[in-house]
Amino acid sequence: MPIDATKPYDPSNIFARILRGEIPSKRIYEDDHALAFHDINPQAPVHILVIPKGAYVSWDDFSERGSDEEIAGFIRAVGKVARDMGLVARGYRLLANIGRLAGQEVPHLHVHIFGGQPLGPMLGR
Ligand code: 5GP
Repeated sequence: MPIDATKPYDPSNIFARILRGEIPSKRIYEDDHALAFHDINPQAPVHILVIPKGAYVSWDDFSERGSDEEIAGFIRAVGKVARDMGLVARGYRLLANIGRLAGQEVPHLHVHIFGGQPLGPMLGR
């Protein structure tokens, strides 16, 4: 069920629980501002999720309330993971679903990184 991205942050969401170490994840990278881990239901040979450590529902929420340091840290982490996972030469795709029309399921901002195969048209049409 897609979430309403205008609602306040819910600290019981699954990614908040992953951040707190309450449920396991296959972690790839972590620093002060971001955590990257493998998606539990991969849609491509490489399917990684990168999340900020702060409590933000969406990209627009993060861009409004996040500090410059948090935002820079998160953006740098996404690029570092792409480089470290060897995705740059062949190419990869970033995707952030926000709210109902995009089908966002988890109300903690996340960027999907897809790679490892041709990724098809942008909107799957
Ligand atoms: P969204 O549709 O919100 O953009 O994407 C949520 C993603 O989170 C989905 O790709 C889904 O497979 C992934 N996901 C949901 N629950 C878990 C979990 O417990 N662990 C991991 N690693 N990924 C999850």
